[in-house]
Amino acid sequence: MNTRITDRDIALVRDHNPIASVVLESHVDLTDTDDGNATGLCPFHNLRGERETKPSFHVTPARGMYFCFGCGEGGDVITFMMKRNNLTFAEAVQRLAKRAGVKLSNAAKQDPAPAPSGWSNLKAASRNPLTGIVLAICAVCLIVCAIVLRVTA
Ligand SMILES: [Zn+2]
Repeated sequence: MNTRITDRDIALVRDHNPIASVVLESHVDLTDTDDGNATGLCPFHNLRGERETKPSFHVTPARGMYFCFGCGEGGDVITFMMKRNNLTFAEAVQRLAKRAGVKLSNAAKQDPAPAPSGWSNLKAASRNPLTGIVLAICAVCLIVCAIVLRVTA
């Protein structure tokens, strides 16, 4: 499926999916810190087979961002969804839209215009005045051929 996500959709999905809730739903335990942020054990460390003992995964709800000081993994709620669930950008946006009950704009469902078929190419060619001239010359040739054959026969 050809999917185009508009900037409006991306903004809408970001606004309706608080990063802390999405991270918590992905089975990452977060502890609130004094400055309004949250920390936890990095889920991306675990993916690489190394378990973290000291939380270096930070979530900043005010900015809708996450960052891990251990492995350098970071981004917004869409990036988190992609990395955590192995999704493409479009899939992550669609899943978050569904989660928040957000309707994506129609652009996401539009397919590109179909390529012109051979038949419509032919029709276009027949409208070309040059084609008419070439056909007329062919007709004249046939008549001349017929006359010549009849004379020589
Ligand atoms: Zn990490």
